[in-house]
Amino acid sequence: MTIPPISIPYNPLSEVTVEVGGKENVESLQRVARDFRSDTLTVPTDAQLLHSLKASRGDDVYSEDPSTTALERRVAKLTGKEAAMFAVSGTMTNQLAIRTHMKQPPHSVITDYRAHVHKMEAGGIAMFSQATTHQLFPSNGLHLTAEDIEPQLQLGTNIHISPTRLICLENTLSGIIFPQEEIVKIGELAKQNDIGLHLDGARIWNVAADPPHTSLTELLEPFDSASLCLSKGLGAPIGSILVGSKEFIERAKWFRKAFGGGIRQCGGIAASADYALTHHFPRLAHTHKLAKRLEGGLKELGVNIAAPVDTNMVFFQPQAIGLPLDAVMARLAALPNPIIVGRERCVVHHQITPQAVEDFIACVREMREEKKANGQVEEDGEGIRRADKEKLEYYNEPKGKTTDAVLRKQAALGY
Ligand SMILES: *Cc1c(COP(=O)(O)O)cnc(C)c1O
Repeated sequence: MTIPPISIPYNPLSEVTVEVGGKENVESLQRVARDFRSDTLTVPTDAQLLHSLKASRGDDVYSEDPSTTALERRVAKLTGKEAAMFAVSGTMTNQLAIRTHMKQPPHSVITDYRAHVHKMEAGGIAMFSQATTHQLFPSNGLHLTAEDIEPQLQLGTNIHISPTRLICLENTLSGIIFPQEEIVKIGELAKQNDIGLHLDGARIWNVAADPPHTSLTELLEPFDSASLCLSKGLGAPIGSILVGSKEFIERAKWFRKAFGGGIRQCGGIAASADYALTHHFPRLAHTHKLAKRLEGGLKELGVNIAAPVDTNMVFFQPQAIGLPLDAVMARLAALPNPIIVGRERCVVHHQITPQAVEDFIACVREMREEKKANGQVEEDGEGIRRADKEKLEYYNEPKGKTTDAVLRKQAALGY
């Protein structure tokens, strides 16, 4: 089915002005509006930062900052948990959660082999919690199931094996929604065996964004704790929130202090996140429509899409129509108004404009037509025009030649 160009009911480009934000920040917003590398790359808006100016200015380590407390209460309520704790990053809320769940070694955590907590947090689980990670491969290629996990639980008293104390799931993972029925089953399995269940919900907002909405409360019900990023889809400049029982959060705050993560005058940061929750969260559904349009437009050209586009990510493989990925990236980066992508992963964030999506599709279409006409893409060796290559290297570390094996591995997602 063809998906027509999408219009959105807001103009991201109008939200930083020369008068308030200054020329450089206006230009910065114009750049990120065409930057598909990550949904962390958004620019705080004028209104968002002006909102911060009005925030309380108390000391949150003393629990005396009303803006921070208000944000924590708001998210606890939204997620149906007793308590919440703000921290600087998702890595910190994940690692503090894991540390709070784990008591004393020997002990181990079960994760998907692609899990951020295991793969992308600098080995934090071993460093902070002295735990072994048992990484599992989902047999369906998309997400773990109770059937995958059950035989891997380490429950006995065999002294050769470190017992399972925690299961960590991630939703979304590579933009893919974890089916809630399966999460419920895994939750039951964890409960039966007295094992904790933590959610890395960096992008759980995306799961809750699309109508018919599943509430965050329902999504998080099976979990003992969950980390929700504020600086990804929501576009807060800093922050992540950990939710759980009152007792759990009190313990986590203790660890937060031990790791130097207490923030004194936190109000401005929390208010900025609070603004994002009110004003940017409703935009996620539109980013998903734009991602669908990007997928549809590229598919129509014959480009392979390597993973289901459930939310805001599109993994594209132009090699399917004979266009090397590097060449497409280079041509996009060489447009008069450059478009930046992080290899095959394209992330649509709330400041990506519909125009950027259309220009992306048009650029690939042009390359495809060129290839049809000439039998090949115009190039100076290596499949890339020299002028384009310089642009590409400006935005991306030169990575050498990408082999098919590497591409397949990357397209196995989880980055
Ligand atoms: C980004 C991300 C995090 C946390 O990242 P920070 O940069 O530390 O905030 C955790 N999990 C997933 C899945 C993420 O994408």
